[in-house]
Formats: sequence, structure tokens, C-alpha cells
Amino acid sequence: MIKFEKTFRQARILNHLKNFEEDTLTFEYRADPLTGRNTTVIKGMLNYVSRFLTSDQELINTLVEKTKATCPFCPENVRTKTPMFPKDFIPEGRIFVGDAVVVPNLLGHAEQSVLTILSKEHYLRLRDFTSRMLLDAFEGGAEYLKRLRRAAPSYFPVFIINYLPPAGSSIFHPHMQILARDKPFYLVRLYLEKSKAYYENHEICYWKALVDEKGDSVRHLFEINGVEWLVPFAPLRGLNEAQAIVKGKSNLLEVKNEEWIGLAEGLTKILRFYDEQGYVSFNAILISGPLDEHLGYFDVNLRIVSRPGIQPLCFTDAWALPYFLWDGEAVEEPEKLAERIRNFLEKAR
Ligand SMILES: [Zn+2]
Repeated sequence: MIKFEKTFRQARILNHLKNFEEDTLTFEYRADPLTGRNTTVIKGMLNYVSRFLTSDQELINTLVEKTKATCPFCPENVRTKTPMFPKDFIPEGRIFVGDAVVVPNLLGHAEQSVLTILSKEHYLRLRDFTSRMLLDAFEGGAEYLKRLRRAAPSYFPVFIINYLPPAGSSIFHPHMQILARDKPFYLVRLYLEKSKAYYENHEICYWKALVDEKGDSVRHLFEINGVEWLVPFAPLRGLNEAQAIVKGKSNLLEVKNEEWIGLAEGLTKILRFYDEQGYVSFNAILISGPLDEHLGYFDVNLRIVSRPGIQPLCFTDAWALPYFLWDGEAVEEPEKLAERIRNFLEKAR
């Protein structure tokens, strides 16, 4: 059994909204069951920050037009304004799957740094992301990893989506990044180390145990083709964070077509929920163990969060506490978020 640990602390204030009567503020601290990292749940915070999460549609339209003029990822420019892979690595220069195009990143973030352009459209509302589009992008990414594995077997890959400037993207046009290093990114290393220790201590894979909890878990969302979707007990960042686990697959080359569909369809469900809430921007990560071995103690998994809206007031949720102090904060109880997502999906059926 996984331990879901919560502790509560309180502060007393004289509340001016209640005629300076004594009031008690409650803080809920949650330890991530795998890493022990703290996430503070602050009830009422979602309501407080919600005015920063909506967007100015006119401003978006202006930015779409402005950025389109010089966009290297629009279909008329992609063959002349993006780099190509060396012929001895990928003879065709770029990988095309449906509308997805995989190209090298000119200014990358790791020794293997690649972009997958997701769509011919320069701008998409979150409800416009389709399963087909995401599936093509994943297949393009997996094809790139296959070629990489042939060239050099030992890599730790991640797929990343930063969509629109509030999520850190410098280019509007929807795209996914594929980064691969011979050493894992810090979070991946932490998960691998902690998962291994959990396996040694409990004789079960943490990720399997987490999924098996779903029967009585109020945070479970849905399952598609062996991919389980849930809201994490202690979110990493906290704005509408959801998580997916690809059961029994420890690296991205082990993921089968059905499971890629499970990831793509699940993502579109979450994105439709975000869209309905008025959000326009998101980050997602899909993390993997090493490509050259199967690990019985680790499963490929994904996280997605919504980001603030596009407004003249440039509010960011990447403030000092999560950014520097590495603590988590949830703007509402994860169980409530799970309930809201489930209700939305039930209604949308
Ligand atoms: Zn474009």
C-alpha cells in the first residue's frame, strides 16, 4: 500500500473581512509518496488566481497574426527555414508522419535536441488539438528515437510540450520538443533512484502500486489502452495538474501504438477540459527510463499543467517558491480537480 501522507498546520489572524474577528487559516502539507517532496494545498487559491488564468482573445489574435509573418514552422517555410539531419543519420533529412515534421533544433537544450511540428495550423485553441495530430507527433518522435538508438544505444529521452508564451515557448506554432542525453534530467534521475529503492523495499513497482490504488482512489480519471490517467496526490506544480502512466513500459521505445493512442486521446481529453475552463496554454512532459534496457521498477509517465492566460498584465505562476525553493503548491485539493475533470468528461460524452 502506498502511503498518502497529509499534515495540517494552522495560523490565527484577526480578519478584517469579518470585522477583525479571530479567524483560522489552515495549511495542508502533502508528501509525494515516491520522493517525499512537499506540496502545500491552499484551499481557495484557485479562485484567487483565476483572474490571471483567462486570456484576452483580441491580444491573442494580434499576436497570432504578428508571429505568423515570420514563423519557420508554417508549412510554406518548414523546408527552407528549419535545419536538416545529416544524411548518414537520417538520409531523408527530416521525418514526416502525417502533418507532423521532425527537425533538428537550431538552439537546443541537450546534445540531442529535436522539434516535432505538430500541425500545419499556426495557432490552435486547446480544443483543436486532435488525437491524430498528437499520435503523428508521438510516432515521429518514436521514429527519431529508433534512429538514435541505432546510432548510440544509451540515452534518456523526454518529450516536452511548451504551448504558447506563458508556458515558455518562444514560437507560437504548436510543437513538441524531444530531448535526449546520456545522463537523465534531474527529475528523471530522482524518479529512477526512488523507484528502484521503492522496489527493493516493497518488492513491487511503485508505478504499478499507484495504478492498483485506483479502485478506491478519488483521484483516478480514466484508462485508455493500458494508459492510466489520474490527478497526482501531491502535484509538482499545481495548476490543474494531471498525470498518465503507461503500465509496464519503462522506456519510450517499448511503448506500443495502442499505448501512444492512449496518451494522445487522454491528452485531448485534458486539453478539452482546460479549454472549457478558459485556458489557452500548457506544459507537458513525457519521461522515460534509458532506451537500452527494461526496468521492472519504473513506468513511462506524463505530467501536464495549464499555465496562466495571455493578458497585458504578464502574470506568471513560475514564481520564487516553486522556481527556487523546489516546493510544490496546489491551488485546490487534487481530489476536487479530479472530480471536476470527471464531471466535465461525463457531460462531454
Ligand atoms: Zn506557424
